[in-house]
Amino acid sequence: MKIHRGRLPGAASENRTETFTGTVWGDPILAEAPALSANTVCFMPGGRTYWHSHGGGQILVVTHGRGFVQNRDDERSLISPGDVVYVPPGEEHWHGAADDSLLVHVAISLGPTQWLSEVEEEQYRRVVAVGS
Ligand code: MN
Repeated sequence: MKIHRGRLPGAASENRTETFTGTVWGDPILAEAPALSANTVCFMPGGRTYWHSHGGGQILVVTHGRGFVQNRDDERSLISPGDVVYVPPGEEHWHGAADDSLLVHVAISLGPTQWLSEVEEEQYRRVVAVGS
């Protein structure tokens, strides 16, 4: 058994820029489990992922703030602390903060992530307008 006290020792927070919009920071929180990647991710207001999917699915545990998730079937939801989102393998989706709140979630991702296109501002605005 191994206990990490909040974060990986020696691991610096990572500014996530390439497949994210806005300001997003991530902390890897687990290095030992070979089949998954676990990160605490903090999105500033308006910050969000690009569209993407996870080969083995993903679990998001919201710990702070408010945000949104949406998939290609236009299922969308406001998410807040205590919510647990399960994204099935291969389902294209995005997640991110509300426009007036940061969002912090723990993301447990299985399998390779396939990154797609950016969530355009107009699309994001529509979700925020309906979901708040
Ligand atoms: Mn995801």
